[in-house]
Amino acid sequence: MSVLVVGSVGYDTVSTPVASGTDLLGGSATFFSIAASYYTPVSMIAVVGDDFRQDDLSLLKAHRIDISGLEKARGKTFRWSGKYSTEDVNVRDTLDIQFNVFADFNPTLTPEQRRQDYLFLANIDPELQLHVLGQMESRPKLVAADTINFWIEGKRDSLTDVIKSVDVVFMDEGEVRSYAQEPNLVKAARAIMNLGPKAVIAKRGEHGVLLLNQDSAFAAPAFPLERVVDPTGAGDSFAGGFMGYLAETGDLSHGAFRRAAVLGSVMGSFAVENLSVEKLSSLTYDELISRFNAFVGLTSFDGLKPGEKLPWRNKDGTG
Ligand code: AMP
Repeated sequence: MSVLVVGSVGYDTVSTPVASGTDLLGGSATFFSIAASYYTPVSMIAVVGDDFRQDDLSLLKAHRIDISGLEKARGKTFRWSGKYSTEDVNVRDTLDIQFNVFADFNPTLTPEQRRQDYLFLANIDPELQLHVLGQMESRPKLVAADTINFWIEGKRDSLTDVIKSVDVVFMDEGEVRSYAQEPNLVKAARAIMNLGPKAVIAKRGEHGVLLLNQDSAFAAPAFPLERVVDPTGAGDSFAGGFMGYLAETGDLSHGAFRRAAVLGSVMGSFAVENLSVEKLSSLTYDELISRFNAFVGLTSFDGLKPGEKLPWRNKDGTG
């Protein structure tokens, strides 16, 4: 199988407590595609300007990402600039955002793209997400969408139309709360699921993710790294690992969703180890396996053996 993604491709100017860089390859579709490409073929829909570097196109091609849907338009590539707090690397301020060539982007999908079974609407204008979704020939097996506060505040109605049409919603935990206007995360996720999605993935930065369904919850931790260089793209890389695994296996069971959440966390953990896609774009299978096994170690514990009981003392002294 394979996965189709629409989202941003652009240049980021980033400052974190330990590193900084200007015009680094970034964008939601970029991180997503590179992460997903380790598991499954990826086809990308996005636009770049005439200042987009040949090296960056080559990097996407080297991951065998189908970039036939990556339009090259006249004008400047999307730019985003952000600064991470020195006290808490989970906190970032957007300093500047320039949509540039995205302002007039109106893609037409090829017949093959319209028939994809797995679709990811990465963080971008919800109207563009709807424009892509509306061109699908039939309902894909799995559609997921990501968004950020920028769109919750600026395009709430279109975003609601997106949410009503997808199976899985990805948001930061604060965004889940702010979209649902409900301070309790579980209730807020339920309010979103009541609009249609089967699952909400609440991203919690260095605390990992919560995968919430109507009747169950699963927590995947973030990998405890000693050195986080740049958190940019962690969420998109998570989504790439998550969707890439599901698309490749075609397994949409609860168990597969849980493993996909761990494989997403694996990709997120690599993404933050260096600026831009530097670490994410150079993974080996051995690195993947060893990080995956480290996650197994991080999350496994002994349940009760047959006949075994937990220690328990009644407060009234009986039993
Ligand atoms: P993440 O850290 O996973 O939230 O993703 C960061 C990426 O999202 C950066 O590489 C940015 O270029 C991109 N980005 C930031 N704001 C927006 C936006 N409003 N629309 C689309 N992409 C964005």
